[in-house]
Amino acid sequence: MMDCIFCKIIKKEIPSQIVFEDDEILAFKDINPMAPVHILLIPKKHISDITEISSDDAELIGRIHVTAVKIAKDLGIDQDGFRLVNNCKKHGGQEVFHLHFHLIGGRKLGAFAG
Ligand code: 5GP
Ligand code: ZN
Repeated sequence: MMDCIFCKIIKKEIPSQIVFEDDEILAFKDINPMAPVHILLIPKKHISDITEISSDDAELIGRIHVTAVKIAKDLGIDQDGFRLVNNCKKHGGQEVFHLHFHLIGGRKLGAFAG
């Protein structure tokens, strides 16, 4: 999608610090990290938010989770644990409308509900 900042990151029109990439998935460091590890995992296909996924996307969404765990292991945060978060729309605090999952860790995180 033309004006989507994450689509521009996928096309390398905007630089990012990529930690994983394959045909369907990109993972890169969040520009404003809230913990020592803060990675965003996105599908390369533009999906605006998680309410837009269909059963056709089930494998892709599963692979994003498998990839998140691989990255957590690579970065050494799998033993202490981490948070994998999707913010959906206004009440969920979503700011970028290209589906993404936050992988956050490297410190003890606070209580979840905000
Ligand atoms: P949301 O609030 O939509 O769940 O999260 C959007 C995330 O994208 C935020 O944590 C924000 O810091 C991050 N972000 C926004 N613009 C950019 C960017 O241009 N590059 C990178 N790496 N992260 C971004
Ligand atoms: Zn997009």
